Amino acid sequence: MKLDILAIAAHPDDVELTCGGTLLKMAQRGYKTGILDLTAGEMGTRGTPETRAKEAARAGKILRVSWRGSIGVPDSDVQPSRQHKLALAQEIRELRPHTVILPYWEARHPDHYHASELGYEGCFLAGLKQLPLDGEPFRPFKILYCTSFEGMPPSFVVDISAQYATRRRAILCYGSQFRPAKSERKQRVYLAIDELDSKMDLLARHWGDKIGVKYGEPFLQKELQQVDDVVKLPVRSI
Ligand SMILES: [Zn+2]
Repeated sequence: MKLDILAIAAHPDDVELTCGGTLLKMAQRGYKTGILDLTAGEMGTRGTPETRAKEAARAGKILRVSWRGSIGVPDSDVQPSRQHKLALAQEIRELRPHTVILPYWEARHPDHYHASELGYEGCFLAGLKQLPLDGEPFRPFKILYCTSFEGMPPSFVVDISAQYATRRRAILCYGSQFRPAKSERKQRVYLAIDELDSKMDLLARHWGDKIGVKYGEPFLQKELQQVDDVVKLPVRSI
């Protein structure tokens, strides 16, 4: 397996909510994409692990990913421990992704910022020869960071206007997380599906507006962007 892009996140649904449109757009361009959920999301308030696995598989299919898997890190306890880093490094060696998308390194949920650190260190370790791992040493070429929720200063925005409706369908696959059962309907749901839907719409419109399109997804890279043709730079200035 040789992936062009691998998105790594703490829980199933994190990728759909942050970079699902971009993954779909790249798959439509013929790139091989994948999603690695560090945990199976078993601590979610709703839905059994089996339900969540089914939802994740369906959402991945809608986003046309070539591969989706998990390394079984315990949910709500994502830590950049040696054991998890080695497990991730082993997957990186097998999947050989050119580009890796990680969660932004600041977040409200500890699993999210730990996923960022674990993701980076797993990618680094995958390139070290002397580790007890199978396969050839390998490191991704590029690491990008994504988020929809935090005040991240993005390096660039991807136009996902043509992918937005499909990304929305993929997000709605996670019905167990956002649709309360009948018995729970009178309770306050942390993020009900309609609320989530309008929030995601607002965020994608906000980032789209920044580059003059309808919907966008923001990314950050730690390196400076190299430009060779300043005549063909996109996004109108005046
Ligand atoms: Zn999450």
